[in-house]
Amino acid sequence: MAAGTKRDYYEVLGVGKGASPDEIKKAYRKLALKYHPDRNKGNKEAEEHFKEAAEAYAVLSDSEKRTQYDQFGHSLGGSGFQGFEGFEGAFQGFGDIFGDLFQDFFGTSSRRGSSKSGLRGADLEYSVEISLEEAARGKEVTIEFPRHERCDECQGSGAEPGSHPTTCSQCGGHGEVRFSQGFFTLRRTCPRCHGEGKQITKPCKTCRGTGRTTKARKLNVKIPAGIDDSSQLKVTGEGEAGERGGPRGNLYVYVTVKQHPLFERAGNDILLEAKIGIHQAALGTQIEVPTLDGKVRLKIPGGTQPGKVFRLKGKGMPDLRGYGMGDELVRINVEIPEKLSPEEKRLLEEFGKSHDGSNQNQGLFSRWHR
Ligand SMILES: [Zn+2]
Ligand SMILES: [Zn+2]
Repeated sequence: MAAGTKRDYYEVLGVGKGASPDEIKKAYRKLALKYHPDRNKGNKEAEEHFKEAAEAYAVLSDSEKRTQYDQFGHSLGGSGFQGFEGFEGAFQGFGDIFGDLFQDFFGTSSRRGSSKSGLRGADLEYSVEISLEEAARGKEVTIEFPRHERCDECQGSGAEPGSHPTTCSQCGGHGEVRFSQGFFTLRRTCPRCHGEGKQITKPCKTCRGTGRTTKARKLNVKIPAGIDDSSQLKVTGEGEAGERGGPRGNLYVYVTVKQHPLFERAGNDILLEAKIGIHQAALGTQIEVPTLDGKVRLKIPGGTQPGKVFRLKGKGMPDLRGYGMGDELVRINVEIPEKLSPEEKRLLEEFGKSHDGSNQNQGLFSRWHR
């Protein structure tokens, strides 16, 4: 790779001298796909084009290197740019936009973080416990937690103001290193710069070079009406700040719904058991029934059997996706008194005498129905 025999990098990518970073990236992507070794097995010429494009991209996509190249051309140092390592470098240059390529072609995002934009911040978890009534109405909760924020002193760069991070000497700014052994090639995050491609020579004193400081973060989170117990809300971009300007992680709010002293939840319905006396079941009555929003009166007709279920329409939980409301189901339990006063005993015996006439004091049998 002697200086002077190389084609101009702009010419290689087919862009003008004033091309924007985006145009450069697009041009490189096109060439990388066209000449990628996987698509051109054994084609030496394609391989040369691929390497050439990758090298041009490695330089022109880095503003520092691009400025140097614009000033000095290929003559700098006589051996190209520091950190560029021939074919290995070509792969690294390609790897840099690999995630984007996958996103473009398969619609999925690569899990590999971009080495150019710093490390993504960690996700945060926060737990909130609410009552069933609150789950029914929805609730806005204010949560406060310590969080990593971008360091104001160094603008998140991690470098002491006035100093600048330099290109990592081990990976040449690519953020990863490759090892070849026989047929195997291993690629891993650069151990020196942890994939950032840059090294900080003078760390910022405020954040000790991490680009982040810890601050209290106050945030309002809307818990939607109808939320289930053990639900998780994702608040995108409210996790920890990334290192050295990297993107934020996400905040996950885990919502647990406290067990209600009266109501059992079954999907969007709520269940309640009501105990009434034998006389109420036999004669009929009206009872006051608690619901999630106050009490309502429920008419129990005479002759109501134990286990009978009454449905209070629309008194359940709202549907989380907005499909109406569930119901409240009230199951009637008839209480048999365990102790009777002499007067009560006399009255019941009297009732029994008159009632026996109709069923001959026999048990009535049927299949057990639930
Ligand atoms: Zn700092
Ligand atoms: Zn490195």
